Amino acid sequence: MSISAYDPDNIFAKIIKGEIPSVKLYEDDDTLAFMDVMPQAPGHLLVIPKQGSRNLLDADPAVLAKLIPVVQKLAVAAQEAFDADGVYVAQFNEPAAGQTVFHLHFHVIPRHDGLPLKPHVGGMENIDVLKANAAKIIAAL
Ligand code: AMP
Repeated sequence: MSISAYDPDNIFAKIIKGEIPSVKLYEDDDTLAFMDVMPQAPGHLLVIPKQGSRNLLDADPAVLAKLIPVVQKLAVAAQEAFDADGVYVAQFNEPAAGQTVFHLHFHVIPRHDGLPLKPHVGGMENIDVLKANAAKIIAAL
C-alpha cells in the first residue's frame, strides 16, 4: 500500500502556526502539548512535534528523540494532576489504525481503575472545562 504525503495544511499544523486556537500546556522549540478537544477522559492531551510528519512511520528519529521526553513529562504531570491510577499513551498510524489527523501526535490520557474511556473522537468538551483541566496539568509540570 502507498502512504500519502504529509499535508502542511492539516489542523495540527494550523495550531502550531497559531492559525486556529488550542488550549496549550507546554511549548518549546521543537514540541507542543495541548488539550484534546474531544477527550476520552478528563485530562486527555496531545503531544506533537513542530516538524511535520504524517505519523510515526515517516517521522525523523531525531525528532522522536526530542518528542518522547516531552510525552513522558506530560504523562507524569497528567498522572499527578488527576491523581490517576495509570496513564494511557497511544499513537495511531493511518486510518486503518484509527488515525484521523495526519500530523504525528501522542495521546496522553489519565486512567482510573474501573472507569472506561469514552469513545475515540466523540463529543466536543466545553472550553471552560478544558481550560480548568489544563490549569491542573500546568500546575503539575
Ligand atoms: P487520531 O485519531 O489519533 O488522529 O486523533 C486525533 C485527535 O485529535 C482526536 O482525539 C481528536 O479529538 C483530536 N482533535 C481534533 N481536532 C482537534 C483540535 N482542533 N484541537 C485539539 N484536538 C483535536
